[in-house]
Amino acid sequence: MRCPPPTRAAESRRRLLVALGLAALVLEACSDGAPAIDAAVDLLADSISTERSDWRRTDATGVERCEPSADLLKRIDPSRIKADLAFLTSLARSGGNQRKAADYLRTTLAKIPGLLVREHSYSYSGTSFVNLEATLPGGEAQDKYIVACAHYDSVSGSPGADDNASGTATVLEVARALIWCKPRRSIRLVFFSNEEISAGTIGSIEYVSWVKPTMPPANVVGVVNVDTVAYGPDTEDLDLVTKPAHKAFADATKVAIEQSTSLKVKEVVGDQPGMGDEGAFWSEGYTALLAIEEHTGGQPPVKNPNYHTAGDTLATLNPALHAQVTRAILAAVTSFANGL
Ligand SMILES: [Zn+2]
Repeated sequence: MRCPPPTRAAESRRRLLVALGLAALVLEACSDGAPAIDAAVDLLADSISTERSDWRRTDATGVERCEPSADLLKRIDPSRIKADLAFLTSLARSGGNQRKAADYLRTTLAKIPGLLVREHSYSYSGTSFVNLEATLPGGEAQDKYIVACAHYDSVSGSPGADDNASGTATVLEVARALIWCKPRRSIRLVFFSNEEISAGTIGSIEYVSWVKPTMPPANVVGVVNVDTVAYGPDTEDLDLVTKPAHKAFADATKVAIEQSTSLKVKEVVGDQPGMGDEGAFWSEGYTALLAIEEHTGGQPPVKNPNYHTAGDTLATLNPALHAQVTRAILAAVTSFANGL
């Protein structure tokens, strides 16, 4: 059944309910230490199920597309991003504590229509960890992919709001915005565990070796790794960090973002090693870039003074900037998904 578009009053009421509901659930989570994941996810799933609106477009051949149109980008909902951030930052997300965040991601993704969700398990230091993958199958080129990803773990002792609940919430909200979308290429969204460990980006390294036989580099137009994207003023730009061999992908990503949003984009092209999960893809021959807020090129890698500290809290983030980055990632992903 096709639901009628929500009225403005109903939309305001829904946003308020999402905000209040998640606040209540997070309080509950904090009081007994057992976050109510199903209830939180149901509230957010309800917020997308009534939203089917008239933004779809058909191309010259009469096939429906999900172009990065203003109508599509409007589907990014800052109240859902805030709710995801609130829930994720209420959880410890380091070491063995990452499982609760994985549960939240798995439950959330399972309730988004049209996504094929897989869990990739691996063992590290005697403990089992998971990466979550959600795929929106392409119509004409199902075995060709554009990939967006983020790591959901954080360093011990930090709420990890900017690093990297922000990237995780961005990729989750992109997943929600893609409902009813019919891309040519497949859109694959991946959430990694264990990026923040001294041994290296174990989660993405394990995932890439697992997925490579069925998603070889030649079948991937590019990977956009979203990591630490929500701190700074409204005028902050988004840095696209990549290697010289992948500059064309960064150029095309920049164009896609600047055509669809007012976000400023800066390319940083050099022969640096991967700072995050993009490195696991580079090592195996994939085209990839890192999307990150204003970065320093050194250590710490970003200007956020709360980086990797207990001060990396939700209150320090800029919701307007974060929503704009999320629109930008959605624009980039859908632009590439419609190519062949
Ligand atoms: Zn990070």
